[in-house]
Amino acid sequence: NVSVILFTADLRLHDHPPLRAALDGSRQVVPLFVRDPAVDRAGFAAPNRLAFLADCLRDLDTGLRERGGRLVVRSGDVVEQVLKVVAEADADEVHLAADVSAHARHRETRLRRVLEEQGVRLHVHDTVTTAVPPGALSPAASDHFAVFTPYFRQWSREPIRDTLAAPRAVPVPDGVGSEPLPSRTAVTGLSDGLAPGGEQAGRSRLTAWLRDGITAYEDRHDDLAGDATSRLSPHLHFGTLSPVELVNRARRAGGGAGAEAFVRQLAWRDFHRQVLAARPEAASVDYRTRNDRWRSVPDEVEAWREGRTGYPVVDAAMRQLRHEGWMHNRGRLLTASFLTKTLYVDWRVGARHFLDLLVDGDVANNQLNWQWMAGTGTDSRPNRVLNPVTQAKRYDPDGTYVRRWVPELAHVEGPGVHEPWKLRGLDRAATDYPEPIVELSEGRARFLRGRGMAV
Ligand code: FAD
Repeated sequence: NVSVILFTADLRLHDHPPLRAALDGSRQVVPLFVRDPAVDRAGFAAPNRLAFLADCLRDLDTGLRERGGRLVVRSGDVVEQVLKVVAEADADEVHLAADVSAHARHRETRLRRVLEEQGVRLHVHDTVTTAVPPGALSPAASDHFAVFTPYFRQWSREPIRDTLAAPRAVPVPDGVGSEPLPSRTAVTGLSDGLAPGGEQAGRSRLTAWLRDGITAYEDRHDDLAGDATSRLSPHLHFGTLSPVELVNRARRAGGGAGAEAFVRQLAWRDFHRQVLAARPEAASVDYRTRNDRWRSVPDEVEAWREGRTGYPVVDAAMRQLRHEGWMHNRGRLLTASFLTKTLYVDWRVGARHFLDLLVDGDVANNQLNWQWMAGTGTDSRPNRVLNPVTQAKRYDPDGTYVRRWVPELAHVEGPGVHEPWKLRGLDRAATDYPEPIVELSEGRARFLRGRGMAV
């Protein structure tokens, strides 16, 4: 009795239903991870994510070895590799977590077909990569929710299953060889400040977050300089932490409004997954078209990418992204608004740049949040334009975040740092920070005209 567990976006041992199901049947298991070039071609292979993945695989292997097992890593077409391993291990079943991307669904369909031909059962498990499965909730008149608030109302009433403990022992049969594990040091071009990956790192961060951070989350999550969000997104992306466990532990932590607000964000993650499950094309095509005639302005896009738009808070956030492979949510919102509305550039251009750098870069969350901000997605106020100066004064009131990331302005004290064009005398002379590349009211008017709105 041997089961192959195909690990994908669930690189953990705690709260892992596929592993539990196989071990409950008193089986030996082959924990398998396949490096599939098709995933790279689908846009996964950015240095920051490859480095984080290498950490995750090493940590998973360590955890399995502590339990008497080991990880088997192969490269090549995922279906061919699974078939090979099934044959080598003489396995009669394969377990896999359900997932929503077009690639994941194609993989599942292909696996099902070829395994069935060989008399091998495929078990696909829900509630591994989401807390509530996509498709579990739907409004009366449609196959999915297109608006978050009613979705969340139902999501909050859904029973969440209990968290599963990590197995004590993972017996792996002999005779199934592995390629060497990848290593972070072999990856070039990653961000200097990239966080470490792996289940251990994720669990330490979670413990610290539940102890020190979650209670104040509701009040502080938008404070750019305070950096008071969980930073668990890469762990959710790679599945080193389980969304079910996070919901259960946040609710049990008794963090009041903080815990509730945090759980609400986890529901946003499930929300976007159910949208993508129902509308896979929304990864690249407008969820709701607004017939935009986006501008093609390579120099302005380059200034945005490099953090030299002349709007300090936009530039600070873009530089944080490059340096850490991560950006604060408020930064993501205002830089996306700046690109798609103030510059009136296609959201796909921005989404691509984010996916090149974000360690949590994720087809569902990235593409659908970009569309939400561009007003081609599920946002019910599609034409709002965020003013970066107003946003900066509200979410970085004394300018600390800007001074942290924009050294040309580090000498400017207080909130004046948000409007360097108003600086006088020495402060002005001491900086080589660029002039704004666009006038905000002009950008706004151009966008509204593009949408056929009164200016
Ligand atoms: P916390 O505030 O601590 O939230 C906890 C968790 O809830 C996050 O880790 C995340 O999994 C989930 N979450 C929070 N906000 C959202 C949201 N708006 N949509 C979906 N899930 C959410 N998130 C990604 O994981 N990957 C992406 O590629 C991504 N791209 C984005 C692009 C844009 C333009 C915008 C506006 C948002 C994007 N987000 C993305 C959502 C959000 O910004 C990040 O999840 C969040 O900043 C991660 O930091 P955190 O873990 O500290 O979040």
